[in-house]
Parts: sequence; C-alpha cells; structure tokens
Amino acid sequence: MMTLASKEEQIVRDYMDEVYQAVLDRNPGETEFHQAVKTTFESLLPVFVKNPVYMEKGVLEQLVEPERIITFRVPWVDDAGKVHVNRGFRVQFNSAIGPYKGGLRFHPSVNVGIVKFLGFEQIFKNSLTGLPIGGGKGGSDFDPKGRSDDEIRRFCQSFMTELANHIGPDKDIPAGDIGVGPREIGYLFGHYKRLKGGFPAGVLTGKGIEYGGSLGRKEATGYGTVYFVQEMLKDVQDSFKDKTVIVSGSGNVAIYAIEKAQEFGANVVACSDSSGFIYDENGIDLDTVKQIKEVNYGRIHEYLDTHPNAEFIEGNENIWTLPCDIALPCATQNELDGEAAATLVKNGVKAVAEGANMPSTEEAIQIFQDGNVLFGPAKAANAGGVAVSALEMSQNSMRLAWTAEEVDEKLHAIMESIYKNAKEAATEYGYEGNFVAGADIAGFLKVANVMIAQGIAD
Ligand code: NDP
Repeated sequence: MMTLASKEEQIVRDYMDEVYQAVLDRNPGETEFHQAVKTTFESLLPVFVKNPVYMEKGVLEQLVEPERIITFRVPWVDDAGKVHVNRGFRVQFNSAIGPYKGGLRFHPSVNVGIVKFLGFEQIFKNSLTGLPIGGGKGGSDFDPKGRSDDEIRRFCQSFMTELANHIGPDKDIPAGDIGVGPREIGYLFGHYKRLKGGFPAGVLTGKGIEYGGSLGRKEATGYGTVYFVQEMLKDVQDSFKDKTVIVSGSGNVAIYAIEKAQEFGANVVACSDSSGFIYDENGIDLDTVKQIKEVNYGRIHEYLDTHPNAEFIEGNENIWTLPCDIALPCATQNELDGEAAATLVKNGVKAVAEGANMPSTEEAIQIFQDGNVLFGPAKAANAGGVAVSALEMSQNSMRLAWTAEEVDEKLHAIMESIYKNAKEAATEYGYEGNFVAGADIAGFLKVANVMIAQGIAD
C-alpha cells in the first residue's frame, strides 16, 4: 500500500511530468531547453511535496513560459559589400524579482532553444545572487570569427537598432556572453546612445571602465567560480594550493578562472578553444593567452609560437583525459559528457565547477555525484559575473565608481553566501552535499514566493 508521503510525492511527480510533457510538446526541437527544465524539476520535487501551494498556484507552468520572446532580422553588409541576414533574439524570461538581466551570445549555434535554456537558468542564478535582477538572455547566430572590426561594428549597430526598442535601464539590461566582450559592448552601447539620446549608462553592463563599467566585472565570472570551489574545498579542509587544474575554453571566463586559481597556488596545465587544447606541464603562461585571445582575437595553438615545449592537441574532447585534481569547464554547453566524467573520476578528480552554462551533461553530473566529487553547478558557480553586473548597475545609478578591491570583496561575499544558501537548502530538502539541487531550490524559492506575492501566479 502506498504511504502518505509517497502518495503526495506521486501527485507531485504526475504534476511535474505533465508540465514537462507540455514543455516538450510546445517547444519541439529545443533540446537544451528541455534538458535545463528537466534537471531543475528533479531538484524541486521535495519542495513541491512540502509546499503544495506552488502546485496549486501553477508556478511551474508559468516559470517555464518566457514572459516575452523577441525575434528579429539583423541585416548587415560585409567588407566586400555583400548583404548578410542574421537572426537576433531576446528572451525576457521572468521579471518577478527585478528587471530582466542576462548576456548576449553571438555564435552560429544560437537559436531560440539555446537562448531559452540560458534565460531559464538565469532566473535561478540571478535569484541566488541575492540581488534584485530577473532572468533574460539574448543573442544572434552571427559568427564573429574571422570578421573584421568594421564588420563587427556594423553587425552590432544593426542588432542594436532593433534591440533598443525592447531594453532599458529599468526594464532589461543585457551584458556579454560567448562572442560578446568589451569591444562588442562598446559598439552596442554607442549605438543605443545615438538612438535614444542622453547617457543611458545603466542599459548594458560589461562596459569599458572609462564610460560607466565596473572595475572587476571582466574578472568576476572566472574569479567567482574559483571562489565557489574554494568554499567547497574549505569544507573538506582542502585548498587550491599545489593542485593540478584543467580549464576548458580560453575566453573571458576561462582566463580569469586561470588567473585566480594560479593566484591561489594551483598549477593550471591546460586550456582550449573550439579547435583544440594546449597542455603545458610547467603551467599555462596566462599573459601569452591574454595576448592571443584578448588582444589579437587569435587561436590557442599560437601559444606554441612562444612556448615550443607545450603541446597542442586538436579537438577538445580529450582535454578531460588529462589527470587533474580540479576541472573547470568554462567553454560551452554539454562539453563534458559521461565518458569524460568517468575518466576524470578514474583519474582522481576532487572538484569540478561549471564556469560555463550547463557544460556537463546529465550523465556527467550523475557520475560526479556517484563518485563523491565536489560539484559546483553553473547556476551557483558562475553567478559572480551577473552579480558584479548588478553592482555595475548600482554604481551607474549612484553615479560613482567603487575600487577594484571593494568590488572583489563584495563578489567574494556574494559567492560565499551563494555557497552557504545552496548548501543549506540542499540539507533542508534531503539532498545533503548536492549543490545542484541546493542551488535550484534556493534560487526557486525566492522567485516562486515573489510570483505568488505579486499575484502573478493566480
Ligand atoms: P568567450 O566568447 O569569451 O569564450 C568562449 C570560449 O569557449 C572560447 O575559448 C571558445 O573558443 C570556446 N568555445 C565556444 N564555443 C565552443 C564550442 N562549441 N566548442 C568548444 N569551445 C567553444 O565566452 P565566455 O568566456 O564569456 O563564456 C564561456 C561560457 O561561460 C559560456 O557558457 C557562457 O554562457 C558562460 N558564462 C559567461 C559569463 C560571462 O560573464 N562572460 C557569465 C556566466 C556564464 P573559440 O574562440 O574557438 O570559439
């Protein structure tokens, strides 16, 4: 006979299955979005069993449907005079606790499903920071690789010509993501300013320091990821000191994760881009990587031009076969699968934290958890970037600028608090040590309660 507890659990399971089935039916082909929703629902099961009000108020049905999706044409002309047409997106997912906030991604793989998965995750992440920001995300299937500076500028201006109608400092505040760094934010901001007039500093974050950007924003995601790992390690009386670390990617998040891990005494031996990875047993020379990626927009194999003893291995799946103590996937979604996770565990990895969004497949996460690996999920571990973006918004509103030390201190405190909240929520709902569930639950509770308080969920 079914016990009362299991009967209640079964009701919630049936409800979640029904909502999830509707997500599949209404959003065909959006596999990354399905994946993000499914894993989050799994974490939330005990929350719904304990608090039936969320089911009664239909919170889940509303949470999985963006408040608004904007899709638009982005025509632009290349240096040879040829016209190209890309597709632009902005998903304004949830504004319960604040204006929509989330980055813009320029990458050929961008489609509505990718932007929705990122926007959905952003709701929980932003809530976890403790700051008043809702969830959104955007981007385009434009491929910036190999494009001249003039082409990038023309594309950004065309993209902003339409996006400007939908964003604003109190409404929706985009930032960077893959393919959108300080250069692109500069062009986007410059064009918004021409279209709207005045000096609307608060409309974008990740701006240059000279025109309203925050010190420490560039470093925030990578540093934050390392601070999160530091918290996990502290709890088991360990640290970064003398650990061997592998970081995938060599973009904004990867570079500053490497920098902070090195500062904490780790030996970072590998990083990558989409063509392959470099292995330098003496430790990655970060100044060289910065010169290649931040200054020259080059390829990671150019590292060998000045470091002939390092190795370049084409393709990036095998980066996870390198033995390491700590692995930080900081490139893109689903870059670390079950096989890679099993290899990492076999090689004795102690901690894994996601600098990128959803870089580990569901199978990989399961393998880390079964292998008792400390695992920091993206929603918590990479929340430092958006947290400092929110600090940039505060500074813009106050028309002042904090020092790098002040910002870093606040970032550190936010990452400690995210870790504590995720840990406590996990313990309270029977998932001790599971920061995936803890982050989902802590992020969810605040948003769901506010949705109900605002009457949105009636
Ligand atoms: P960048 O564009 O600066 O760097 C991305 C890096 O990942 C590059 O090295 C890139 O290589 C590599 N990469 C991208 N796509 C692929 C792919 N399909 N296969 C292999 N490698 C790939 O982006 P960010 O560092 O800003 O973003 C990295 C991740 O972090 C993303 O998941 C993003 O959503 C997440 N994130 C970023 C935040 C931020 O503040 N920037 C905040 C929170 C999360 P290549 O140059 O060859 O394309």
